[in-house]
Amino acid sequence: MCANVEYLKEAGSASIEIDQEVVESVQDILGEVRERGDEAVHEFTEKFDGVEREQFRVSDEEIEAAGEELSEEDREAIDNTIANVREFHEEQREHVEGFEREFEEGVTLGQRVVPVESAGTYVPGGRHPLVAAPAMSIVPAKVAGVERVITCAPPQENGTIQPAQLYAMDRAGADEIYCIGGAQAVGAMAYGTDSVPGVSKVTGPGNVFVTEAQRQVFGHVGVDFLAGPSEVLLFVDETADPELVATDLLAQAEHDPNSRPILVSTDQETAEASVEAFHDGLSEIRTADVAEECWENNGEVVIAETMDDALEVVNDYAIEHLQVMIDEPRSVMDDLHNYGSLFLGDHSPVVFGDKAVGTNHSLPTLEVAKYSGGITVNTYLKVLTHQEATEEGAARIAPWAAKICELEGTHAHQLSAEARLRDDISPDYGP
Ligand code: NAD
Repeated sequence: MCANVEYLKEAGSASIEIDQEVVESVQDILGEVRERGDEAVHEFTEKFDGVEREQFRVSDEEIEAAGEELSEEDREAIDNTIANVREFHEEQREHVEGFEREFEEGVTLGQRVVPVESAGTYVPGGRHPLVAAPAMSIVPAKVAGVERVITCAPPQENGTIQPAQLYAMDRAGADEIYCIGGAQAVGAMAYGTDSVPGVSKVTGPGNVFVTEAQRQVFGHVGVDFLAGPSEVLLFVDETADPELVATDLLAQAEHDPNSRPILVSTDQETAEASVEAFHDGLSEIRTADVAEECWENNGEVVIAETMDDALEVVNDYAIEHLQVMIDEPRSVMDDLHNYGSLFLGDHSPVVFGDKAVGTNHSLPTLEVAKYSGGITVNTYLKVLTHQEATEEGAARIAPWAAKICELEGTHAHQLSAEARLRDDISPDYGP
């Protein structure tokens, strides 16, 4: 990085590389699930989650009981998030289009956008049973038109999915819900077992075991992208309110000891005041132990000399959540191109996108934003191309295709093209 910056606090660099121990352990879990199906899933559920379940499929009675455990207000809040996520993703779907046109006389080319046949969505629930998470993968899949959307979440100590999460999985539109966590859930959805159907694509974030399992099943099934522990970068200047900056850093730090809260400021005084407010705020949150450990391990504070330096460093982080709290945040929008989701101004904290506003919170971490965005309806869609030529159209393109085959030495291809030649039609296909 050549930007002119100074680190007030520096953390070790985060990396997508996963510990060899985790890689091998996941290899073992997936191998067993692939070979022994349900029997292996039962064993790993007992080993890692400490529970035994007779059936992995969650019954209608369990779903009903989960809804009844919640207050009307709880249900309303969950329904509200799902409705907002649905509205946003329906709009997104409107903007993905197929087309067809005659590119040359007698040669029609086009593309269709079709959903994958089935999808498996993982809903994380180990540390915190994330209640907005079901909406983020199940809703886009359903809006995309996927016929069979199955979903897995880990069991809590009582052997079932946490009620608010289960209610959300059902309301988001899952066709089948399974109570399985970790790599064994990814394996079951990828390879299929007697009780869990194998699907075309496995999506959704999770811990390092879930992420590594997705990496290892890729190829056999599709996956969305590899999402690690959550990250935020607050990009601030002297106009930012340190109290608000600290609140939003704390919200990130409570996720996980491996989360990454980063502060990039063009003003040292604002950065220092924000860090002080962060430490003061720790005593006020119930998740202070995790937040403190996270800040110690992974918190980073960077002072950039100029706005251009700040933009360079921000793009280089390619962070999952990018929150811009500077004077006129929209003025830098075109200069920012590596992020999972962008939060503009003091009134758009990450928590809105994570929990309620309608955009997707399943986002790329660990610099994956350099080449991918987060979950969208596109995650569950395929763009398929097609072509149709008339006899005349075929005769026009045939010599051009045949010539390429000749250059390659692909003789049967050449004959296939030449079989469409016609003496009375000249090869006037081309630019
Ligand atoms: P999780 O559901 O991902 O994992 C829990 C499961 O991990 C358990 O059911 C268990 O089977 C398995 N497990 C636990 N210890 C194991 C071990 N030693 N070996 C093998 N398997 C083991 O829940 P979590 O742990 O709370 O992690 C959720 C993660 O998802 C967090 O890191 C969070 O930051 C991340 N997340 C990311 C995004 C994103 O968009 N990037 C969104 C939401 C959540």
